[in-house]
Amino acid sequence: MIDPIELASEFSKGLTTIDTAIVARAAEEPCRDCGGPLYRGDYPRKPRGGLLAIAAEAWGRRFSLCCGRDGCRHRATPPSVRFLGRRVYVGAIVVLASAVALAAVTVSAGVRTTGVPARTTRRWLRWWRGPFTASGPFVDLSARLVPAPDRARLPASLLERLAGDEPSAIAKLLAWVAPLTTTSCPGGSRFVRAAM
Ligand SMILES: [Zn+2]
Repeated sequence: MIDPIELASEFSKGLTTIDTAIVARAAEEPCRDCGGPLYRGDYPRKPRGGLLAIAAEAWGRRFSLCCGRDGCRHRATPPSVRFLGRRVYVGAIVVLASAVALAAVTVSAGVRTTGVPARTTRRWLRWWRGPFTASGPFVDLSARLVPAPDRARLPASLLERLAGDEPSAIAKLLAWVAPLTTTSCPGGSRFVRAAM
């Protein structure tokens, strides 16, 4: 059972520390196109945290890298445990509001709790049950869990299986799905493992 906990600033700082370690590790490798040096070239972001991850709205930068060699300027955005792809809401709220929406007695009760519109959580739930189940991170994670997690109850069925209290289960799930947060950094899961 998922409690609609508020993810405090300590949680938000912890995820920032992990993303900082991920980008630092990724910057140690050369540009994949030309072998040149990678430098920080962050993107501005203006994320939403709904009612449960207000502290995360202070995250104004998506950490990214850019090749320093003239004529290349290849962009490499490493995985992130804070931003789940281009979604305007932070990853933690994509996980938590989806789980709350699944457990809520009525749609409006879920919306009141999370501050996320019902059409948004419906779209996320379609993603968790659909494209997400075909992804490498889901295949890897579900192979480790016996019995396999209930696909109709994703992501709650995964959270319930990850050890620790609710914030740490959310952080672990975000680390598992982090390779899905970028397409410009193939094999980026090794940076996430090194940072955890
Ligand atoms: Zn380059």
